[in-house]
Amino acid sequence: MLYPQEFDVIVVGGGHAGTEAALAAARMGCQTLLLTHNIETLGQMSCNPSIGGIGKGHLVKEVDALGGAMALATDESGIQFRILNSSKGPAVRATRAQADRILYKAAIRRVLENQPNLLIFQQAVDDLMVEGDRVVGAVTQVGVRFRGRTVVLTAGTFLDGKIHVGLNHYAAGRAGDPPAVSLSARLKELQLPQARLKTGTPPRIDGRTIDFSQCTEQPGDGMPGGVNADSPVPVFSFMAHAYGGAAMHPRQMPCWITHTNTRTHDIIRSGFDRSPMFTGKIEGVGPRYCPSVEDKINRFADKDSHQIFLEPEGLTTHEFYPNGISTSLPFDIQLALVRSMPGLEHAHILRPGYAIEYDYFDPRSLQSNFETRQIQGLFFAGQINGTTGYEEAAAQGLFAGLNAALQVRALGGGNAAASAAGAISYTGERWLPGRDQAYLGVLVDDLITKGVTEPYRMFTSRAEFRLQLREDNADMRLTEVGRQLGLIDNARWESFSRKRDAVSRETERLKSTWVNPRNLPAEESARVLGKRIEHEYNLFELLRRPDVAYGALMDMDGGKYASSDVSRETLGALSEPVVEQVEIAAKYAGYIDRQRDEVGRAAHYEKLRLPPDLDYMQVTALSIEARQVLTRHRPETLGLASRITGITPAAISLLMVHLKKGG
Ligand code: FAD
Repeated sequence: MLYPQEFDVIVVGGGHAGTEAALAAARMGCQTLLLTHNIETLGQMSCNPSIGGIGKGHLVKEVDALGGAMALATDESGIQFRILNSSKGPAVRATRAQADRILYKAAIRRVLENQPNLLIFQQAVDDLMVEGDRVVGAVTQVGVRFRGRTVVLTAGTFLDGKIHVGLNHYAAGRAGDPPAVSLSARLKELQLPQARLKTGTPPRIDGRTIDFSQCTEQPGDGMPGGVNADSPVPVFSFMAHAYGGAAMHPRQMPCWITHTNTRTHDIIRSGFDRSPMFTGKIEGVGPRYCPSVEDKINRFADKDSHQIFLEPEGLTTHEFYPNGISTSLPFDIQLALVRSMPGLEHAHILRPGYAIEYDYFDPRSLQSNFETRQIQGLFFAGQINGTTGYEEAAAQGLFAGLNAALQVRALGGGNAAASAAGAISYTGERWLPGRDQAYLGVLVDDLITKGVTEPYRMFTSRAEFRLQLREDNADMRLTEVGRQLGLIDNARWESFSRKRDAVSRETERLKSTWVNPRNLPAEESARVLGKRIEHEYNLFELLRRPDVAYGALMDMDGGKYASSDVSRETLGALSEPVVEQVEIAAKYAGYIDRQRDEVGRAAHYEKLRLPPDLDYMQVTALSIEARQVLTRHRPETLGLASRITGITPAAISLLMVHLKKGG
């Protein structure tokens, strides 16, 4: 049966990529359909119910800055929040939350169900409708044919998914969910380059059988007894203040820490001969940064203990997630290894750990908007692009969804007037943030230029311009362009504009407020600045000093000692995020300016477009290998070309000479 409505964007898969993709396209005014196996699993966390962390938290804030759902859903469901690296510089500080998985899913579902322009339909997609080299829709398991101008595929770990526990294996998308076998076969038929990856999850434990007195308690920030008990409980979303800030979080809970020991390691080794990883049953490559416990014991044989975090899965369940013992060893070994750890001697396992193998697609065959090169209108996002993690998936989903919407607009479809933003000023056919603009830009650029050899996850070390890609300024970097794209609703826009204006007004005020040895008494100068000032300074210059805090400076300010056109009082009370921006801008101004210069120097060739029909084989100055690589990848810009594995700076110079000659 052909469904009577044609959609602008059809999103297949209701995981973290799919939900953000569908929401983004709908926010931009596209008639959007989200097709997924099961409405009950919308926003389901397949593994650990935790969001954020180093690099990942940055992505969540960026998704939020572009109007996405993940951060607010985490604020609504988070039962423990921490700022990681809180004693380090702002570039690497990252928010991490433990979420109640039921509340998280409920929050995502509510957002989806209330999103204008978005419809949801529960059914497996078995086939794609392709006419010529363009996708025109999707066909479900019972033969309902949905026509769509674009399709965003976000099937996660489901494509030909195979679960392994010991030497047993069975087909599944994840535990309890069916695999997508027909769709996998169809994609193979379409000859999109693909391979297999694997990931794993630990057994879950019934908290009633844990002896917590044998474990170390780990409260979150702002909770009594924690390392950062005096800090406020963090929030994720830039909009959290509109809903009461940390007051929107449910009750907070501690995590607990136990550890493996030599007996645990002996038990794990005793299962190696029945491990699907070591017996060659699993062919897919797993995440190096999130290894299974058997992999850890094998690779770091000299370590005789590993820390294991016992993380609550929610407020209404006894289920605990033992972070650090992901495993696909046989169940008898799983039980013995769990019970060998302090506090877990009588533990009952609620769900066995397992590994899952699945198809992924080589992201080097995607264009810079995540559209496949082979089939027009077909976009890929999330785990199927070779990544791992909810945050990486959400960021890609939003990216693919918004680019599908831009394509629809370029084809003369969509209804910009129905977008979240009303008036839309972005007129491009695709949007890709630069590596200096967003972690999202780093993620997309890395995937399409380098591909993956193992599941890709985000780290701050992947970003060369990380001083300007901080969590705290994700809104300053992205909300404005998000508004132009049509992703940002009026409430968020007004809130952002107020913050941006307050930051700029306060920065200007500090720069035009001067103190000098005459108007600042020696003792006041010594109290706030640690010494007497020797000549005239403006307050912004003083704030650049590492040991001078904004609060202390304001004590000294107030028009009492200083002269200024705008007095502090006329600005009203400044919120914590505004003060944070002003302070970071002052303290890191030197470094940030230097990084801006670097970005400026790189920019001259970064955006230089390479002709799509350029015959690289004729660029004889290049080595044969470089010509072959460039022919295979067909990068859109010189910047993208420069980051392809195998393309050297010398090759880029030669290419530039060739282009200048008009080649
Ligand atoms: P998913 O969250 O997998 O969502 C896919 C969605 O698509 C599902 O809703 C599914 O029902 C739907 N779907 C699939 N095929 C079809 C179809 N044909 N028709 C209709 N609907 C379809 N990440 C980490 O960061 N660390 C970890 O340790 C970790 N461990 C993991 C362990 C396991 C066992 C699994 C399964 C995942 C693990 N992950 C881990 C990965 C994390 O779950 C994913 O990165 C993330 O969920 C990917 O999001 P996604 O939206 O791409 O896909």
